[in-house]
Amino acid sequence: MLEQNQQPIGARLAEVRTQIDAAADNAGLSGDDVSLIAVSKTHPAEKIEQAIAAGQRHFGENRVQEAQQKWPALKEAHPDMVLHLIGGLQSNKVKDAVALFDVIHSVDRPKLARAIARHAEASGRSPRCFIQVNTGEEPQKGGVLPADVEALVTLCRDDLAMPLEGLMCIPPADEAAALHFAFLRTLAQRNGLKGLSMGMSGDYELAVEMGATHVRVGTAIFGPRGTLT
Ligand SMILES: *Cc1c(COP(=O)(O)O)cnc(C)c1O
Repeated sequence: MLEQNQQPIGARLAEVRTQIDAAADNAGLSGDDVSLIAVSKTHPAEKIEQAIAAGQRHFGENRVQEAQQKWPALKEAHPDMVLHLIGGLQSNKVKDAVALFDVIHSVDRPKLARAIARHAEASGRSPRCFIQVNTGEEPQKGGVLPADVEALVTLCRDDLAMPLEGLMCIPPADEAAALHFAFLRTLAQRNGLKGLSMGMSGDYELAVEMGATHVRVGTAIFGPRGTLT
């Protein structure tokens, strides 16, 4: 039998999808309500093509510049792909991000929200958005602090009329992810938001059991990344 990371990408995708359905089932939920985002950062277009050939439609990248190199051609060849920006977004990259991405998971400050709304209006392209929450209040990490979530939701949804889907988090590496997933779910409920972008290769089953609507899975699908993440 092949080692897990030597299996073809299609087989690994099928395995992850099976685990998602099983986790949802365990919790009395439906796997059909969970979008699997294949995180293709650092991986070349050939590997992405293999995933597309296996039926994958949602992909995630964390850098605008890298996505600009890989995705215009891929999107032209496969117009129904849905591209998610899962990494931090600098204000000077907003125009490019709005032009390329279908969903932005890293809205985390008023200035960025206003810039996205402005470029969306100017371009006629309006990416769906998630607000990233720094649930662990880690100084080095992106995301709005929990105490400021409500004000940012109000700005995005009510003042700027952005298509706001939900909240996203990346739990601290050394803490139980379940606590952060539960906290994010509570914050989303409190603000009337349905979308929960949470769970990565190490904890996506747990995230699904706790109500994730979007899981972001890289390594379990594409294998290990080089050091340049
Ligand atoms: C890289 C990345 C992922 C995927 O991580 P894996 O552990 O490889 O599944 C998910 N979310 C974000 C924000 C990332 O940057």
